[in-house]
Amino acid sequence: MTDCCSAPGLMPLHEGLTRLLTETPVITDSETVALPDCLDRVLANDVVSPVNVPSHDNSAMDGYAFRFSDLEHHEVLPLAGQSLAGHPYQGDLPAGHCIRIMTGASIPEGADTVIMQEQTEKTEQGIIFTKKPGSKGNNVRLAGEDITRGCQVFQKGHVIKAQDVGLLASLGVANIPVTRRIKVALFSTGDELKLPGESLGQGEIYDSNRFAVAAMLKRLGAEIIDLGKIRDDKSAIREAFLEADRQADAVITSGGVSVGDADFVKDILNEIGHTSFWKLAIKPGKPFAFGKLPNSVFFGLPGNPVSATVTFQQLAAPALRHMMGAERLPASELPAICRTPLKKQPGRLEFQRGILSTNEKGEAEVVTTGSQGSGILRSMSMANCYIVLPASQGNVDAGEVVKVQMFDKPLM
Ligand code: AMP
Ligand code: MG
Repeated sequence: MTDCCSAPGLMPLHEGLTRLLTETPVITDSETVALPDCLDRVLANDVVSPVNVPSHDNSAMDGYAFRFSDLEHHEVLPLAGQSLAGHPYQGDLPAGHCIRIMTGASIPEGADTVIMQEQTEKTEQGIIFTKKPGSKGNNVRLAGEDITRGCQVFQKGHVIKAQDVGLLASLGVANIPVTRRIKVALFSTGDELKLPGESLGQGEIYDSNRFAVAAMLKRLGAEIIDLGKIRDDKSAIREAFLEADRQADAVITSGGVSVGDADFVKDILNEIGHTSFWKLAIKPGKPFAFGKLPNSVFFGLPGNPVSATVTFQQLAAPALRHMMGAERLPASELPAICRTPLKKQPGRLEFQRGILSTNEKGEAEVVTTGSQGSGILRSMSMANCYIVLPASQGNVDAGEVVKVQMFDKPLM
């Protein structure tokens, strides 16, 4: 691993990401979880359907099932019985007859078409059609037309969404093979940090990064080992790293990777393993550290709260997803009309915080959250997207089209 601090210039984000994706190991251990517990887990194997969905030919309407060719010789079709959902008609449909059928109920052997109730009239002799049925097969849902037995429904690496849990249930799958949860140890560094609930002394601030990162890790489905906040003390930090490395697949810290701190943490990290301190060509979030400890990998996030969140989302999260064996997310940048001017100096890729909406013409519009300082965490909370401005870009005028990256809300 080369040390980028000695290289001139800054490292482009994509280069950092490529390094993380090639240099982090993929967890291969798997386990089986019960269907209700599989949400957000990563599939360890392909899922192949053990059944046809639907499992039987069934009616898409409340009405009457009949044999289409019978219409050539019969005006009236006497009723031979009924088929209800869960209570199929027993036997074959007699020639020249029909049966009453409800939505989802089995089509009996011999029948091939359903006419909806509203297009019929019931007489003493049987059912008369008041509207000519279109063609053979109308209103019949065929067995396997949604999913055929033996076909691949999900690929290994798929992250199970809420609606996927329903689909798996519809296949009758009760136990799901998933990769084991990734274990991520977390601590923050800084003598100025206090815990929420404590009172602040002169020059002190609350430790917000650890809570934000823990919340994002929870969304990723990681098992979190929270080692708390650690003093700016060499032996305390060394102990924290050793403990984290003993327990976790990945270690994440915030603070202590900027130029002023780097030497101190760098010594410890290079004593235990190998770490590179990067200066990324992004704003916010320039300092970032990536390393290999004896048993784990290390992501060092910058201390500034917005920088910590941005680098977690743009670098640590994709690397962790890779380690979890999860499929790559599709790129999701969308164009939007920027309604407020944006200040930007050419040089670094910027992730400004924006509020995206659609106007009455249905166009995507974005406005800035205001001041973009890397300590202004409120900008992250106000925003629902990043306005992604390429390195070469300068100031943006109101009315220009920009690219936005929506924040994930994995409700589904
Ligand atoms: P550092 O990278 O340690 O020099 O920190 C850069 C800035 O981020 C300083 O203003 C720190 O006080 C702040 N900071 C560091 N760690 C945290 C944290 N866990 N929560 C909130 N702010 C932090
Ligand atoms: Mg610090």
